[in-house]
Amino acid sequence: MPDFDAIIIGTGQAGPFLAFRLAGAGMKVAVVERHLVGGTCVNTGCTPTKALVASAYAARIARRAAEYGVVIGGDVGIDMRRVKARVDAIVAAARNGRTSALENAANITLYRGHARFVSPQAVEIAPDHHNTGRLRAGRIFINVGGRALVPPMPGITEVPYLTNSSMMDVDFLPRHLIIVGGSYIGLEFGQMYRRFGSRVTILEMAPRLVRHEDEDVSAAIKEIVEREGVEVRLNAECISLAKRGDEIVAKVDCTAGAPEVAGSHLLLAVGRRPNTDDLDLDKAGARCDERGYIIVDDQLQTTAPGIWALGDCNGKGAFTHTAYNDFEIVAANLLDHDPRRVSKRITAYALYTDPPLGRVGMSLAEARNSGRRVLAGERPMTRVARAVEKGETQGFMRILVDGDSKEILGASLLGTGCDEAVHAILDLMYAKAPYTVMQRAMHIHPTVSELLPTILGDLKPVD
Ligand SMILES: Cc1cc2nc3c(=O)[nH]c(=O)nc-3n(C[C@H](O)[C@H](O)[C@H](O)COP(=O)(O)OP(=O)(O)OC[C@H]3O[C@@H](n4cnc5c(N)ncnc54)[C@H](O)[C@@H]3O)c2cc1C
Repeated sequence: MPDFDAIIIGTGQAGPFLAFRLAGAGMKVAVVERHLVGGTCVNTGCTPTKALVASAYAARIARRAAEYGVVIGGDVGIDMRRVKARVDAIVAAARNGRTSALENAANITLYRGHARFVSPQAVEIAPDHHNTGRLRAGRIFINVGGRALVPPMPGITEVPYLTNSSMMDVDFLPRHLIIVGGSYIGLEFGQMYRRFGSRVTILEMAPRLVRHEDEDVSAAIKEIVEREGVEVRLNAECISLAKRGDEIVAKVDCTAGAPEVAGSHLLLAVGRRPNTDDLDLDKAGARCDERGYIIVDDQLQTTAPGIWALGDCNGKGAFTHTAYNDFEIVAANLLDHDPRRVSKRITAYALYTDPPLGRVGMSLAEARNSGRRVLAGERPMTRVARAVEKGETQGFMRILVDGDSKEILGASLLGTGCDEAVHAILDLMYAKAPYTVMQRAMHIHPTVSELLPTILGDLKPVD
């Protein structure tokens, strides 16, 4: 049984970076990966979807070319094979870079296979043609991520369906893509496939899209995708799926609209589940919550001494940046005598529809419920010079401020460039600086960010 100082299970968005830090500090590190190095983000998540979003954006702009005075002869065509080839090349470059970095790093051994705990300090890898057997270490870090949730809907076993993973094999244009789930993943795929030329129907069981966002944000996003021809069915409880000839039929229980939707392909985008059911965590003494997420403390230690859980599997985040931040927290605690904690991080994420939504901190609903005296400032994107110049004026920006401390509570920026612009607010929040600091900052013209101080100069009380 080879002995290591540390074993890292999974090569998602935390494990490899932690491996490099630990190895750099002189530790002997084993990294175990059962599938593709880079995990979800690199292979079936952020990287390929954002590459697809870029192709879809190009299609959209090409169709709108005449608005910009650009003359393109004939119809805009989409070659899905070339779209996929572009994505594959970007993904392969990212994955190969990470793989060779791990393979060539001093003090790191990369094992290929599925790891399971056999005790709190040992894992077994199987099956692996090159390396079999058990590994032992005093410290074990779990970075196993998650996979698409496939709910037990009636008829699900009778119909072919796609998930975010199998969508990566699609090199053709679905005639009519039915998407179950109107949240981040469903919306990104929905808008992009509509732009590629598919008919798209999104079925969302809640009364609105992206239900964790504020109601007006949900409404604005619905308007944006509907304007491009995406069909949205809300209050649509997907009650059963069936095959009818070549078609997949989703019978939906809706307050309005037809009782069934028939399409050529079905994408399930109803959430994620952690890859913790096949780790034999009980043999390690690490406990999970009722949804399968590994229970961790504020410094990401599990209920078993010497075992940490990072990334999506601990339920503290569901993003690449939260997984990476987990790595930073663990490394800081173990190597830098810096007691960083998860509870110190500020919510931040983006929805990569076009235009994107940049989100930090509290939503308006959360701010209202916080019991604080809340001030809010808003601007429609039609008032942003850069958006007008780009011909991309959909959406609006809202910033929330604590009326007493003057600190920024959160922001929802829906508009062109807002996935980037939102960081100006995020950094101010980390600095715990009053919003008035930004009002004295000179921002560059013409940018979306230049509107942020203006919005802060026009705050109104929220009732
Ligand atoms: C369609 C889609 C789009 C997304 N877009 C974004 C985005 O734009 N921005 C963003 O921040 N986030 C995005 N995410 C989320 C992001 O991909 C994840 O939050 C991120 O990958 C963090 O994952 P992780 O580090 O926890 O593990 P993962 O990246 O899931 O990696 C876990 C690794 O562990 C391996 N593994 C699992 N079990 C074992 C085992 N027992 N033994 C050995 N190896 C094992 C897996 O094979 C995998 O390689 C997206 C997700 C999806 C599905």
